[in-house]
Amino acid sequence: MESKLRKLGFEGIGNLKTPPPSYSIKSVVKFLKENINEDDHRLAISLGVGDPSGFKCFRTTNIAEDAIVGAVRSAKFNSYAPTGGILSARRAIAEYLSNDLPYQLSPEDVYVTLGCKHAMEMIVKVLARPEANILLPRPGFRIYETYANSHHLELRHFDLLPQKGWEVDLDAVEAIADENTIAMVIINPGNPCGSVYSYEHLSKIAETARKLGILVVADEVYGHIVFGSKPFVPMGVFGSTVPVITLGSISKRWMVPGWRLGWLVTSDPTGLLQICGIADSIKSALNPAPFSPTFIQAAVPEILEKTTEEFFSRTINILRAASAFCYDKLKEIPCITCPQRAEGAMFVLVKLNLSLLEDIEDDMEFCLKLAKEESLVILPGVTVGLKNWLRITFSVEQSSLEDGLGRLRSFCGRHAKKP
Ligand SMILES: *Cc1c(COP(=O)(O)O)cnc(C)c1O
Repeated sequence: MESKLRKLGFEGIGNLKTPPPSYSIKSVVKFLKENINEDDHRLAISLGVGDPSGFKCFRTTNIAEDAIVGAVRSAKFNSYAPTGGILSARRAIAEYLSNDLPYQLSPEDVYVTLGCKHAMEMIVKVLARPEANILLPRPGFRIYETYANSHHLELRHFDLLPQKGWEVDLDAVEAIADENTIAMVIINPGNPCGSVYSYEHLSKIAETARKLGILVVADEVYGHIVFGSKPFVPMGVFGSTVPVITLGSISKRWMVPGWRLGWLVTSDPTGLLQICGIADSIKSALNPAPFSPTFIQAAVPEILEKTTEEFFSRTINILRAASAFCYDKLKEIPCITCPQRAEGAMFVLVKLNLSLLEDIEDDMEFCLKLAKEESLVILPGVTVGLKNWLRITFSVEQSSLEDGLGRLRSFCGRHAKKP
């Protein structure tokens, strides 16, 4: 059996000694963790992935926990859910998002998905056509590329500009778009940059998309997770200028990524997506497909309507302090430049100045040696499309952040070029 499987190309990867070729965040983090020195008496620290649910200070609200327990105990939600989700969940999501819009969404605009990633895959599947192409941000979230490749949708990249708060290079968007371009993706608040776009910038994005005749897919999985001077403005605000497909989930704001509850929403007051049949294509893409468990869907109205401001502001205050702490500590490290302090989401993206380091070739080698020598995992920029940058997650408990950034600093000091 084993030899047959090997012959067919099923090779166990076992302990990875070389970086995985796919550079997915998961595989690179796994690779780095496997390279941590077992003899290091210190605890390993990961500032690699953005899942804070394991830390006590980021535990979700008991309102959400009680809503799930109540849904299970009621015994009313043990059956299959209908395609697109149960009505009460769709209605609650429509209400929740309409609070920030100049128009009212209806439950028919909302499709409940198995987390935001499922919504991402569904929209890529719907848009995929043999000739079509989609525009993605660089740096970005690589899973869009994975889905585009697996559904044979051509992808092209536009840059985000670090010196302008990681805004979209709209000239680049115009330059790479052609008559087969169907949509552009924006991620706001931003992963991996921690950026938050202003109303004015979003309005320019809408105008550019309108001019090019393309849809905007707005990944707002970090919606409302903002702690700088700019408020969160959903792209759907510009839905009358250009049709918007809004993607989101409860994974990040409620810190429960394992619950797998997300949404794909047509923020399209002019009804263009309906006319073009895109709304129908979404329905057929979702059927047959996995769906978010019915009892999780049933808990959504209580989760969205009853969670207190106090819960949100507590997590925002922790993230604001963590982002500021991170920025201050990184500023003290000569080989790292931080173009701006994170104002949203859970990450900051910083530039590595390799000319100040000896014996380190690139960001992957930097992260590998860091894991080996300091038992610290951070993410090399190649995983988000920007070589020789680093993505650092600050949504961890304060002691890990302090300890981790201290280790990063001593590592950089030890590898600094001697004058
Ligand atoms: C985490 C993340 C997602 C996935 O969210 P899930 O609801 O856990 O599937 C999507 N987009 C971005 C930018 C993310 O960071």
